[in-house]
Amino acid sequence: MSEKTPRAKMMPAPRRLLARVRDLMAASGTAEERLDHIAEIVAADLVAEVCSIYVRRAGDIIELFATRGLKPSAVHNTRLRIGEGIIGDIAAMARPFALADAQEHPSFAYRPETGEEVFRSMMGVPIIRSGRVIGVMAVQNRTRRNYNDEEVESLQTVAMVLAELVAGGELIDPKELLPADGLATAPLRLEGLRLNGGIGIGQALIHRPHFRIERLVAEDADVEQGRLQTAFIEMHGAIDDMMMSESMQAGGEHRDILETYSMIARDQGWLKRMEEAINAGLTAEAAVQRVLDDMRARMAKVTDPYLRERVYDLEDIAHRLLQHLLGAPSSPDLTRYSDGAILIAKSLGPAQLLDYDADSLSAVILEEGSPTAHVVIIARALDLPILGRVKGILDRISDGDPLIVDGDRGQVFVRPGDDIRQSFLDTKRIHEERREHYNALVPLASETTDAEHISLLINAGLLVDVEQMPLLGAEGIGLFRTEIPFMMRTELPSIEDQTEMYQRIIEAAAGQPVTFRTLDVGSDKTLPYLESEDEENPSMGWRAIRVGLDRPMLLRRQMRAMIRAANICKTDISIMFPMITEVAEFQAAKVLLDREFISEGGNVYVRAGAMLEVPSLLFQLPQLLEQVDFLSIGSNDLMQFLFATDRGNPKLSDRYDTLSPAALTMLKGIAVQCLRTDTPVTVCGEMAGQPLEAMALIGLGFRRLSMASPGIGPVKEMARSLNVANLSDFMTPLLDGSEHSLRGKLRSFALDHGVAV
Ligand code: PEP
Ligand code: MG
Repeated sequence: MSEKTPRAKMMPAPRRLLARVRDLMAASGTAEERLDHIAEIVAADLVAEVCSIYVRRAGDIIELFATRGLKPSAVHNTRLRIGEGIIGDIAAMARPFALADAQEHPSFAYRPETGEEVFRSMMGVPIIRSGRVIGVMAVQNRTRRNYNDEEVESLQTVAMVLAELVAGGELIDPKELLPADGLATAPLRLEGLRLNGGIGIGQALIHRPHFRIERLVAEDADVEQGRLQTAFIEMHGAIDDMMMSESMQAGGEHRDILETYSMIARDQGWLKRMEEAINAGLTAEAAVQRVLDDMRARMAKVTDPYLRERVYDLEDIAHRLLQHLLGAPSSPDLTRYSDGAILIAKSLGPAQLLDYDADSLSAVILEEGSPTAHVVIIARALDLPILGRVKGILDRISDGDPLIVDGDRGQVFVRPGDDIRQSFLDTKRIHEERREHYNALVPLASETTDAEHISLLINAGLLVDVEQMPLLGAEGIGLFRTEIPFMMRTELPSIEDQTEMYQRIIEAAAGQPVTFRTLDVGSDKTLPYLESEDEENPSMGWRAIRVGLDRPMLLRRQMRAMIRAANICKTDISIMFPMITEVAEFQAAKVLLDREFISEGGNVYVRAGAMLEVPSLLFQLPQLLEQVDFLSIGSNDLMQFLFATDRGNPKLSDRYDTLSPAALTMLKGIAVQCLRTDTPVTVCGEMAGQPLEAMALIGLGFRRLSMASPGIGPVKEMARSLNVANLSDFMTPLLDGSEHSLRGKLRSFALDHGVAV
């Protein structure tokens, strides 16, 4: 039975509670006495029988420090691990819990020393400071009680003020709040996710968006509302200025990203929440921080990567707002980082990165981050190595620590020894020399020693990738992953937006052929504006052309925009469909393409192709080849389905080899059939960009390889040192073998014949 609380009548306004907490914090007496008083007044104010305050201690323990209502003897005796019991869960998840019946909650852990068995309901919030949970505050009631949002917010607001007392150094030694290995000075190697390659050597520059908020409780709410409004207007002016800057005027993803960012900044919902926080008694800056903490906590539960990434944008905006409120300098001084600065942050928004002078940065490391985060796209455009998901790095380093970022292998060396540093300096120099060496190859023909021409194309997903094409000497775009620009937007781009997007790509390709792949969404690539369901096996689920055929308007509008862009640019294009599993699917997609072509009055040639990524299609290859203008082998997916091996599972990454007799025999069959029917065929999976694999593909008969741009130079060098006739003779008998892999033999061939792999 739920208890109707008399709170609505009795409770003083949240501001009064906050003011009392503030007064208590400043009162005389020991910190523990003040903590006791706070527990007392919060319990009274929220009409709760219990109010307890837990503080985080060394070793990831949460210890009861003050209580009103539980047995006093439990203070300092009740200790929970982070993640243990409901209190431990609140600390682990950094989010509030409001439970009408806590004892039925699966995490409930009964502690007899507290005497809490008589209390049924519980509301608890994390005490957070600088993004770290440093304690938990909870209230309990004897009967079932449904705590409302306003009550949760009140408790969160008090917890925010309380954070200052907990972190103040009187209750525990602040060093305890550092992680177990603290600021070790020993060298350390950390791993992360490769987001942009390259080597960065320099000193740690910790991004400090944490403003010191001195005044938390407002004297006059109207004054604070005015300050917030002024800061809001100033911030928008600054964002508009950023968008008007020269580099943004050129258009492209930079600008799209900032436009999305500016749209998010204008969202009225969060402004309203800040205004409410001010009405609850906080200063403008504390209100910004409160709403930000709250949003972070809510987002911790969200698994959708797209939504999680938008939090980084919101954090960026909130910090910008704090800058306007607190007058912090907007651009850090990088002159003391003589070796170049390596920027380290939990997460970064795109504009936050642009605040730094890019010439002084040598790399970026994020504790979070993912390949489609806006900041990653900006870093790629600036040619900065960037690593994501480097867990715990902020806890392990200090400003100015020497660091090495290996963006190619996804690792960071913290305070490396002289030998490691020297070896990376050498590697970096070799990289630079190699880059120069590959640049020198650009004007040379992509031809084997026996005069076979090998077409080298790029895989792209962003305009910045296409803009690099002329510098690489690539012959065109073999795969443009159109879902990438879709993933960067908050809503489905209109036909006009899409037309402009495709037009920019065709123009940037400057006359070189462009192959657009229609949306390959689903699996791990979700769009916030497109329905998606949790699937048991998303890579074998509702994705790619399956989505396109079930939602034909989505596919038709995309193809219409591509045809329009091609018409405007008076340029032929190729369109291919991902994950075609049977010929009938290609036919169905082609019918839609033809319909769009006719209704648009296409005055250019639009070739239609299929991606071969699903083994079933191998058994219909003759029929398929009669109908397609070209074929593209998506070897990443094809191999995962051939070997029944998840392409993203690191445990299996070395289990089967793409250079095994089985895989190579299959590929050879495709090459032979394409040659026989005179069908252009490209390999566009990762293997095409690796010199040894690319050598094998050429040996099997492939002449068109599409790859991520860093592969172009090395593959070209390999091709120019290869005699295809020799290699084919060498490979043919090997395909009948029963070995696990032909990698070793192919490498020996390369060594013996001076092929640069
Ligand atoms: C592939 O599967 O090989 C391919 C090129 O497509 P994606 O990697 O985008 O799935
Ligand atoms: Mg694929």
